[in-house]
Amino acid sequence: MSDKYLEIANSPLGKKIFNAVGLPDPVPLRREDPQQAHNLSSQVLLGASQGASFAKPIGAFLKSAGVTLCDLSMEGKGQLIFDASGIASAQQSEALYSFFNQHLKSVSDSGRVLVIGHKPSALDDTEHATVQRGLVGFVKSVAKEIGRKGATANLVLVDRGGDQGLEAPVRFLLSAGSAFMNAQVLTVAAPVAAIEADWTKPLSGKTVLVTGAARGIGLAISQTMARDGATVIGVDVPQSQDQLATAMDAIGGLSLPLDITDTDAADKLRDFCSAHSSALHAVVHNAGVTRDKMLSRMTAHQWDLLMQINLGAVQRINSALLDTTLLDNGGKIIGVASISGIAGNIGQTNYAFSKAAIIGMVEALAAPCAARGITINGVAPGFIETQMTAAIPFITRQMGRRLSSLGQGGLPVDVAEVIGFFVSPQAAGINGNMVRVCGQSLLGA
Ligand code: NAD
Repeated sequence: MSDKYLEIANSPLGKKIFNAVGLPDPVPLRREDPQQAHNLSSQVLLGASQGASFAKPIGAFLKSAGVTLCDLSMEGKGQLIFDASGIASAQQSEALYSFFNQHLKSVSDSGRVLVIGHKPSALDDTEHATVQRGLVGFVKSVAKEIGRKGATANLVLVDRGGDQGLEAPVRFLLSAGSAFMNAQVLTVAAPVAAIEADWTKPLSGKTVLVTGAARGIGLAISQTMARDGATVIGVDVPQSQDQLATAMDAIGGLSLPLDITDTDAADKLRDFCSAHSSALHAVVHNAGVTRDKMLSRMTAHQWDLLMQINLGAVQRINSALLDTTLLDNGGKIIGVASISGIAGNIGQTNYAFSKAAIIGMVEALAAPCAARGITINGVAPGFIETQMTAAIPFITRQMGRRLSSLGQGGLPVDVAEVIGFFVSPQAAGINGNMVRVCGQSLLGA
């Protein structure tokens, strides 16, 4: 569904009127060019506090990725990275102020701000840990200041051993793929599996399973994984068989029409994957439904049906796959939650329960998965333009879009790109993260 407000705000006449009346005028976000995805030919100004640990290696890998590192005097920097890991006292935080006070204005439309710090709980020095926690508030506020340019600010916190896995989150957060991921904190720990280095086709030769693949976000996930080289096994309800077949044919994928709530669905899925390949690189639990009703009017059927699709089936599929070694040594599990599961929503007690439980699943399984070389992460989308949100009443839909710092809803591909990053072998240090893909929506913030 198109966003007419965004279109009008960016037409020549609309620009004049919006400026004259003082209406917010969001800018169209820059997204990956499918022909040249993961291209990082940008200009970055890289700064660091005294005693910073990560700026040097970041500079080295960005240079070899084709990024131009600017010196302080260069115009049009566009993107800023600041390694704040050395800041260990209130006084030293001045370095952060000074860098951004001088350079924040040079962030371009759809530009990027990236701050790097230590994960506070990984530090032995309590004062250092206290001050590092301040970076979260700082980055969230910067994101609000630059959002109207379509620019984003995110924070990467490095856990023990995480420096070995830092390249993937830095590259992703600089790329156009992170267009709608804003004001988020990603934690990077020691990689749990080998990091492979094909940055342009990271999923070459890999098989991934996507549920709810016939349309909406699931279709975008499938297309993004295929672009990155994967063979996609797409699952959707038998009623959507034709739509699923068309979608999978277009990307050279395999269709598996199946209702994931069937009692034997998890076994069928596992068997299908085993028959296809000895390893499954990733499972993306995308299929989900809403059945909105005020709690006092909600029927038991509306509760149960949703819970089986959004949560019960996800757990059964995980159990069936984890009973085998299909995902071991490099596999990925992805949960799709929602900001409803964080903020709660009127008429969505069932949905919010199921989605909060998906957040719980990522938290609970992170350690046992890591022990087998598997990572589990999740996304909590905000307002994304799909059939699901097209059904929302007009005024609520407009509000949903404008509530984010970027002033617009996201596209299915924005969620898909974040999942693509989680699923890439290079993200082997990213485990147990749940990030909102919401453009920094005020809901649940
Ligand atoms: P959608 O309704 O467009 O697509 C969901 C797909 O899942 C459909 O193709 C549907 O047939 C499939 N599906 C439903 N029940 C199934 C079952 N029992 N077995 C197999 N497949 C089944 O929805 P969407 O907007 O693309 O949402 C995808 C995911 O993202 C969902 O988990 C949703 O909760 C989540 N999400 C969406 C938004 C948004 O703004 N659209 C926001 C937050 C979270």
